[in-house]
Amino acid sequence: MATATQTLQNFIDGEFVDPAEGGSAAVLNPATGQEIAQAPESTQADVDRAVAAARTAFDGWAATTPGERALALLRLADAIEERADEIAELESANAGKPIQAFKDDEIPFMVDNLRFFAGAARNMEGKPAGEYTKGYTSMIRREPVGVIGQIAPWNYPLMMAVWKIGPALATGNTIVLKPAPTTPLTTLKLAEIAAEHLPKGVLNVIAGGNDAGAALVTHADVDMVSLTGSVETGKWIARHAADTLKRVHLELGGKAPVVVFDDVDMETALETIAGTGLYNAGQDCTAATRVLASSKVLDEVVNGLAEQAKGYVMGDTRSPDTTLGPVNSARQRERVEGFLERRPSNAEIVTGGGRPDLPGFFLEPTVVAGLEQSDEMIQKEIFGPVITVQSFTDEAEAIKWANGTPYGLAASVWTRDVGRAMRVSNALRFGSVWVNDHIPLASEMPHGGYGQSGYGKDLSMYALEDYTQVKHVMISLA
Ligand code: NAD
Repeated sequence: MATATQTLQNFIDGEFVDPAEGGSAAVLNPATGQEIAQAPESTQADVDRAVAAARTAFDGWAATTPGERALALLRLADAIEERADEIAELESANAGKPIQAFKDDEIPFMVDNLRFFAGAARNMEGKPAGEYTKGYTSMIRREPVGVIGQIAPWNYPLMMAVWKIGPALATGNTIVLKPAPTTPLTTLKLAEIAAEHLPKGVLNVIAGGNDAGAALVTHADVDMVSLTGSVETGKWIARHAADTLKRVHLELGGKAPVVVFDDVDMETALETIAGTGLYNAGQDCTAATRVLASSKVLDEVVNGLAEQAKGYVMGDTRSPDTTLGPVNSARQRERVEGFLERRPSNAEIVTGGGRPDLPGFFLEPTVVAGLEQSDEMIQKEIFGPVITVQSFTDEAEAIKWANGTPYGLAASVWTRDVGRAMRVSNALRFGSVWVNDHIPLASEMPHGGYGQSGYGKDLSMYALEDYTQVKHVMISLA
């Protein structure tokens, strides 16, 4: 097993190095509660060192051709594919993921993302050069932004890192990447693997907590910060990035509404909604956890989701039989339990709500019915294996409530009526809307929020553009 305790180091300027002040923190396996590693607690000195390495590497990397950068990304994608078993052991142990699900779902998608960005960077499009003012030729250049500080969450540690580095590297930026404090293992492994294909200093990874992240955000020599994390952290970053006016890219929390009308293929709908609400123990910013059901099918939806939830198997994350892993930390489990404890009297826990008799940080798959629009469990992201159900009476009410939280990342609408599917998906104020499904993504299509779910896009050509700046060069013909 890859779970023997190991001492991790930062990866700066092409080599593994100890943190400057020598601090470290325990990293746990959330499925057992056992320590599996000691990770650096990076400080300002480590951030300075990593940013300096990224700055030094920038001119050379920015001057490579798109084809050269594409080749590096293609080789990195191949290496991840080849080392999938080793990576899966680490991610499963560190993030509490059922190992087979990680191999089946996350590895292929990460590899595809990198291959997409490799090709896409060679196909950037824009306005043609021309004489838009008499006597001058104008042309547009898309240039890298510079040194990018990237800050990742713990729910998909490696996949979020890959989503960030793909477009940034493809467009010629250099990077200092910080994983979440609880999940540094695969991101440091990524640095090691990438070093075989990238010049030194192009991708630096420092482990550490929020202070290290904050040092990256406020660093004067960082040109842009990209966060995938909570709304609160996003707001802090937007405020503090203002002092240096660095560009900010924010992929924040979500509270995806799942609007179920009475004409759906109910069996498929319930299986998919439960599956995508409980996937990754509900720790997914797009998780199908806020179900709005037509009052005509409310009981069927509540009972059906409860039946589905009872079918999930918790336990050893290395067993192929396990379909539900733990939440990421003791703190996260307490946070989720807090929502359940504070539930209003109108709420009913239909199934779950407790801790199973297992080590680690497991929580039973839970369905809560009877909730009202203003309830905390409807208004705030829970980020655990908890699906809530509300009922609506008509389309207008469904749209109003679906849109009625501060978030705007993802939503789904379930109906066989094409006109209604079109009307509702147009009216939903979210960055992604699925019809008769929930959660699938494509590397070619953008992922990102409306409202307090943030701004900037991951995946797609939009992400590539986010990591570039536009220059107008105007040449006198005289
Ligand atoms: P978090 O905001 O607590 O932490 C995210 C990262 O930010 C960590 O690396 C953390 O160390 C760092 N951080 C915290 N405070 C900071 C500060 N002041 N300055 C700089 N860095 C700081 O979020 P989390 O609990 O790790 O992740 C869960 C959240 O991420 C959820 O809200 C989830 O919805 C969101 N998320 C969003 C997406 C998306 O694509 N929109 C994807 C995955 C997760």
